[in-house]
Amino acid sequence: MDCLFCKIINREIPADIVYEDDDVLAFNDIDPKAPIHMLVVPKKHIATLNDIEEGDLALVGRLQYTAAHLAKEQGFADDGYRVVMNCNDQGGQTVYHIHMHLMGGRRFTWPAG
Ligand code: AMP
Ligand code: ZN
Repeated sequence: MDCLFCKIINREIPADIVYEDDDVLAFNDIDPKAPIHMLVVPKKHIATLNDIEEGDLALVGRLQYTAAHLAKEQGFADDGYRVVMNCNDQGGQTVYHIHMHLMGGRRFTWPAG
């Protein structure tokens, strides 16, 4: 499949992987928008948030759980962090394999731009 994140999952292209289990992979964003910026992705290819099906609910929960686990493990959970999932063009999605941005290490503004 011609999907950047599937290629990272399948080790066809390299990434700076920080976490892996049977269902989820996390790696550092190649163009970080914060001192800490990781992407948490399901190994199953799901193109957008609109394509999540009922059978994927536990998997989507694992993305959030993994993000919190990484924030705790890396010591920025108590300071706080931002998680973002962009959907489709107006939402700012550029890679069509769902992913949770996990960003930390600075203060974030609200509302997001
Ligand atoms: P989005 O715009 O929400 O779809 O996010 C896609 C993210 O993937 C962006 O933050 C990019 O910097 C990041 N990205 C693109 N290519 C790579 C790559 N090869 N390795 C790691 N992150 C990437
Ligand atoms: Zn994919």
